[in-house]
Amino acid sequence: MTAALSTTKRTLDLGPAVELVSKEEGHRQPLAPEFVCIEDFSPLEVAYDFGRVRREDIEAGPRSIWRYKKLLPVPSNVEEIPNTEPGCTRLVRADRLAKALGLKRVWVKDDTGNPTHSFKDRVVAVALAAAREFGFDTLACPSTGNLANAVAAAAARAGWQSVVLIPSSLERAKVLTTAVYDGNLIAVDGNYDDVNRLATELAAEHETWAFVNVNVRPYYSEGSKTLGFEVAEQLGWRLPEQIVVPIASGSQLTKVDKGFREFGQLGLVEPTPYKVFGAQATGCSPVSTAFRNGHDVVQPVKPDTIARSLAIGNPADGPYVLDTVTRTGGAIEDVSDEEIVEGIQLLARTEGIFTETAGGVTVATTKKLIETGKLDPEAETVLLITGDGLKTLDAVEGRIGPKATVPPSTDAVRAVLEG
Ligand SMILES: *Cc1c(COP(=O)(O)O)cnc(C)c1O
Repeated sequence: MTAALSTTKRTLDLGPAVELVSKEEGHRQPLAPEFVCIEDFSPLEVAYDFGRVRREDIEAGPRSIWRYKKLLPVPSNVEEIPNTEPGCTRLVRADRLAKALGLKRVWVKDDTGNPTHSFKDRVVAVALAAAREFGFDTLACPSTGNLANAVAAAAARAGWQSVVLIPSSLERAKVLTTAVYDGNLIAVDGNYDDVNRLATELAAEHETWAFVNVNVRPYYSEGSKTLGFEVAEQLGWRLPEQIVVPIASGSQLTKVDKGFREFGQLGLVEPTPYKVFGAQATGCSPVSTAFRNGHDVVQPVKPDTIARSLAIGNPADGPYVLDTVTRTGGAIEDVSDEEIVEGIQLLARTEGIFTETAGGVTVATTKKLIETGKLDPEAETVLLITGDGLKTLDAVEGRIGPKATVPPSTDAVRAVLEG
C-alpha cells in the first residue's frame, strides 16, 4: 500500500503532522496511507508538532475548515488546491427548542450548510488533501449515503476519478445526489458492513485508490475535529458544558473531544470541563447497548433503522467512544424510529431547521437524556445536527403535507385558517 507513496519523489508536506501512533500501545511509524498498527492491530492516529497557534491567525484565515490548517494533517498551502472548502457552518442559539426540551440554553451546530449538506464534507476534504500528498489519483469509499455525496463531489472538483460503493437499499435521494457528480457509483447487494468489507479488499488490490475511510482513515477522521474547533470559536473561544453527538462508526464523537482538548492544550480556550453524550437509533445501537451494560467491547449488530446514515453495525471506534463518554462524565442513549421522526419535526417546528434522520436521532436522544436525568437541564448544551432533511424525505413522507387543497379564493383560504 506504500507503492503510491514511493512513486512520489517530492517530500511529504502534511503541515504539523509528524507521524502515526497506534491507539492501544503507542507504537510510532512514519506518515503513510496506513490505518492499522501491525504490532498491536489497533487503529493508527496522526501525531503532531503544533508549534504556536494563535487565535488571531485562525480568525484571519479563510471562512472554511482551512482556517484550522495548522491543526490538521494537510499541506501548508491547502487553501490554494481545488477542494470543497467545507466548514464555518452556523452555530444557532436555539431558544425555542430549549424551551420545548426544558433546557436553559441550547446551541444547534447546523452542518446541513456544507457543500453536499452533511458533516462528511469536512472529513473528505482532509482525506483528499492528504491523499494528494501521498500520490493517489482516485478517491473511493464505502458509504451509508452522505459520504458517497461528499466523495463524489470532492473528486469531481479535484478532477479525480471516484469509486463509491453503497448498499443497494440506500435512499433514492442519496443515490441521485451522488450519481449527479458522474463518478463510478456502484450499488452492492448487502448492508453497509458487507460494503465496508468489500472496500477493504479492494483497497488492498488497488494501490492508487485512496479509500477515505479505510486506508487514509487516520487523516480523514481528523477532519471531524473541526466541528469541535468551530463550536469553541463560535461560542467566543470557550468550550460548552455538554455536547450531544450522533454515533455511526464513532469517529466524529471521539474527534470532537480531541478538538476540544487540543484547543485547551494550545491555550486557545480555557480547558473547562465538558461532558460528551452519544446518540444512536435503537435499530442500530451497539455502542449504546455496550454503555448501558457497562461493557468495554462493542458487540456487532445487524442494523434495522430509518437512520441509515448511522447504520453501522460494527463501529470501528466504538470502544473509544465508550472511553470518551466515560472519561468526560457523559452518557449514551438510543431512540426508536418513531422518536427520530418526532425529533426531526420538533427541530423543524421550533428552529426552522430541517435535518435528516441522524439529526432526528440527536434531538430525540437529547430529550431522552433529559427525561432520564443524565443531561443537566441547567448546563449549556450543543447539539450536532450533521445532515440535511432533503436527503431523507421518505422519513417524513405521509406524515406531513398541506393543511388543505383549495380553489384560488380568499374565502377558501380563510375557511381553512379559521377551521
Ligand atoms: C457519518 C455520519 C455521522 C457519524 O459519523 P461517524 O464519525 O462515523 O460516527 C453522523 N451524522 C451523519 C449525517 C453522518 O452522515
